[in-house]
Amino acid sequence: MASQEIENLAAALARLPGLGPRSARRAVLWLVKHRETALRQVIEALGTVQSRLVECKTCGNVDTQNPCTICADPKRDAKSICVVEDVADLWALDRARLFTGRYHVLGGRLSALDGVRPEDLAIDSLLARVAQGGVDEVVLAMNATLEGQTTAHYIAERLEDRPVRITQLAHGLPVGGELDYLDEGTLAQALRARRPLS
Ligand SMILES: [Zn+2]
Repeated sequence: MASQEIENLAAALARLPGLGPRSARRAVLWLVKHRETALRQVIEALGTVQSRLVECKTCGNVDTQNPCTICADPKRDAKSICVVEDVADLWALDRARLFTGRYHVLGGRLSALDGVRPEDLAIDSLLARVAQGGVDEVVLAMNATLEGQTTAHYIAERLEDRPVRITQLAHGLPVGGELDYLDEGTLAQALRARRPLS
């Protein structure tokens, strides 16, 4: 039986996505063994993240500045907005380095099952960005899941009367596929072959 402190740390880590109680305990043991090197780095990195990370008020990205690096970059095309469910999807797409526009993070997907309604997502702020003008294209880069596609169609409907082209990722994406898990080649392909939402 480990000390309460170690149990507390393991319990905290076990809440992370992808880590269960068993891997959390293994991670703790590993950190304890490497406390002079890796543990120190983890503590420093966590401290920096905690003190410096902010949410971009424009797009919902998480960065050390607001507006975020992408929104503030004059080289990024403001005429094109790529809408994603989560920050992880934004990062996955941006790693593929194919999209030169800006992003909008919804913060989830519509789900009757989980009780996620349009007002729970950053949809109004997306409509407001489009209404400000200067946007030619909205790329709906939802996951290829039923809920992702429902969300895409809902947003397309809300944008119907706006003079913007609405496209979505080509679904060479595997059905049920989540963007964050795709390799960069597949993502780049899906983005390059994006097509009007039907
Ligand atoms: Zn931003």
